[in-house]
Amino acid sequence: MLVVVSKTRSIESIMEIYNQGHRSFGENRVQELLEKQAVMPKDIKWHMIGHLQKNKVKLIAPFISLIHSIDSLELLKVVDKEAKRNDRIIDVLLQLKIAKEESKYGLSKEALSDLIRAKELENVRIVGMMGMASFTSDQSMVKKEFDLLKRSFDEIKNMENTTNQFKELSMGMSGDYKIAIECGSTMIRVGSLVFNA
Ligand SMILES: *Cc1c(COP(=O)(O)O)cnc(C)c1O
Repeated sequence: MLVVVSKTRSIESIMEIYNQGHRSFGENRVQELLEKQAVMPKDIKWHMIGHLQKNKVKLIAPFISLIHSIDSLELLKVVDKEAKRNDRIIDVLLQLKIAKEESKYGLSKEALSDLIRAKELENVRIVGMMGMASFTSDQSMVKKEFDLLKRSFDEIKNMENTTNQFKELSMGMSGDYKIAIECGSTMIRVGSLVFNA
């Protein structure tokens, strides 16, 4: 599926995409997400794709459709707690760190497996994984990183504690979505390519 990344775009230009029938949009900052969610149609499925601070979870918990960027057990626990308070179950992806760049958030594979084993969390549903390749024009490096992500995804999927709802692999952006799909992506997050077309 396609998540249209609407960060930094105006309500007007997002509405153009909405009016073409698209309903899934991704934002990477809570404040911007809240401002847009407040005034835009209620049938939009909002995806949080950027680093999420624990103290902001409560602001998006009432409506968020999917959080792509779970990068610690502490964050997962807060999402669980806020989901409970809102009497709902929130779908999440675990973000695996694959890129070499230091600035990228994400879990190691070991830490990610530990989160899968966090059994007592009843109001979050771990539906898959997310990852970002290095920002580089070296296509073979991007492919290597996506292959690694897919292999890790398959391993985690086959773990004993993983539920059969674990099936989404969120990888691929404007510059690398084709490689991502070849490598087994089920969800691409595309911004510039959609809005600059
Ligand atoms: C901005 C962003 C995207 C989309 O990037 P484009 O290059 O505009 O397609 C995808 N994923 C994340 C996490 C982003 O922050």
